[in-house]
Amino acid sequence: MKIVIAKTAGFCMGVRRAVDMVLDASTRYQEPIFTCGPLIHNPQVLQMLEEKKIFRIEKIPEKGSGIVLIRAHGVPPEDQAALKNAGFTVINATCPRVLRVQVIINRYAKKGHAVIIAGDEDHPEVVGLLGYTRGKGYAVDSMEALLALPIFENAIVVAQTTQNLSFYEGIKSWCRSNAPHYRIFDTICGSTEKRQTEIRRLAEENDAVVVVGGKESGNTRRLAEIAAGAGKPTVHIEDASEIDYESLSRAKTIALTAGASTPNWIITDTYRKIENHLQKQNAVKAGLYFLRDFLLKTNLLASAGAGSLTYACSKLQGNDQNFHHAWIAMLYVLSMQILNNLFAIRSDRYNHPKRALFYKENRTYLWILAVLSGGAGLYLSFLTGAVSFLILLVMSLLGLSYNLKIIPKPLGKGRIASIKDIPGSKTILIVIAWGTVTCLLPAVADPGNLMSVGVAFLFATGLVFGRTAFFDILAIQGDRITGKETLPILIGEKKSFNIIKYTLIFEIGLVLAANLSDLLANNAFVLAFIPSSMFLLIRFFEKDRLVSGEHREFVVEFLLISTGLLGAVI
Ligand code: SF4
Repeated sequence: MKIVIAKTAGFCMGVRRAVDMVLDASTRYQEPIFTCGPLIHNPQVLQMLEEKKIFRIEKIPEKGSGIVLIRAHGVPPEDQAALKNAGFTVINATCPRVLRVQVIINRYAKKGHAVIIAGDEDHPEVVGLLGYTRGKGYAVDSMEALLALPIFENAIVVAQTTQNLSFYEGIKSWCRSNAPHYRIFDTICGSTEKRQTEIRRLAEENDAVVVVGGKESGNTRRLAEIAAGAGKPTVHIEDASEIDYESLSRAKTIALTAGASTPNWIITDTYRKIENHLQKQNAVKAGLYFLRDFLLKTNLLASAGAGSLTYACSKLQGNDQNFHHAWIAMLYVLSMQILNNLFAIRSDRYNHPKRALFYKENRTYLWILAVLSGGAGLYLSFLTGAVSFLILLVMSLLGLSYNLKIIPKPLGKGRIASIKDIPGSKTILIVIAWGTVTCLLPAVADPGNLMSVGVAFLFATGLVFGRTAFFDILAIQGDRITGKETLPILIGEKKSFNIIKYTLIFEIGLVLAANLSDLLANNAFVLAFIPSSMFLLIRFFEKDRLVSGEHREFVVEFLLISTGLLGAVI
């Protein structure tokens, strides 16, 4: 059984922009923030926004204060004026592609043209568009509705940006034959077009289709209609809890897609749930997947990666090996990762529901494990010397205070209350912490050639940066909404990908050059295999060729563990 995720599944540009704008406003302004109607048709995101004190207004009051954000669908011009007159500051997050349709309508309505809109008259985008037609707008949601209209002397024809392509083709073709003087505009959004074309193809190639997204979302419903129209069993769900596995039981391949307002973590969660359900049919596979998930959730895999990297850094420098520092790194990383996951149960409910549930159900055991491993790490570092102990103690305290509100109000200007609120902090702090335990602590206890230490440090931090920033890119939507400050949120996905790739290329060159100049142990060049593999993984991901779901996290974590395996042959 195979599950194929549509490349076009999830947030479109307009929705992502509107979500980003409202989240930016919530961190920038102290005033109350509202959205004019629901920001997007997705119950989970709406609940999350309410928890961030971003509420919605359904009816414009006569008087009000605060900030109102106009969502991607847009509003009629009179609503925008009414919001301003009521006393609100308006932020217009209308999608630029919807704005383009509003401009076209406005231009022709001014000249007295009638405006025919292929769309549902109750859909918020169409309501907004009708507002620009100066009373000469007609929404048609069927050929019958179009045929019921008179032939106008002057008219333009546009479509709701998420309209069904073939329906609009029918409208256009009728107009060309029966009212050739009408001006027709292609206003279906490219993102909608691609999404519909892809699901049509996927529905033909696969045995069943799962469409994830709000039941109120017109574009999601349309995807389900197209898939069902191809004659394949189609399930439209809002989240993974609604899947009817019975209807998918005979499918050998399943296509998974999602509407423009479905966050990527809901898509990933649905993928994982279907994958888990399917694996139950094969005991060996089910056992292996359970083990993989357990190792990932408990952070044992990440911890083993830290230990392996410490060992590899030591071997790179040609040191005699004992595993003391590898143990310290493992125990520190295990403790910090578990504690951070325990502190993040509330926000993880949305973007990592499985992990949040695991940490909630096993809270006591995980607290004990975190405290014991943290304590054991400190004890081992104490055995190596007071300086190592102090460094690890400071790092542990920093790690513990990451989520706590320790920054005074005047210093953080009211917006930055804890270390986690500092832009980019999550990615950068993890890299510094890992670099310190994997490379600097061993160097403090046993100082060697400073240049070799420096090269090993750059090697370790570069790999950890690649791993962490890649995971942060995968979680960018959830992190953004739940308020975690990662590098991809600060500088964007594209730049983050580029920085990761340049860092990995630098790593490869660094290991090879340092090996040639005898700064590192003989055969150290074999470790260039790890950044090379990570580079390829990132390229595969960018080209949508990387395995989905938890496999990719496992593969990346396993790469760090492989540094230890390769270190053994140096
Ligand atoms: S579907 Fe297209 S037009 Fe609609 S909000 Fe998204 S990007 Fe904008």
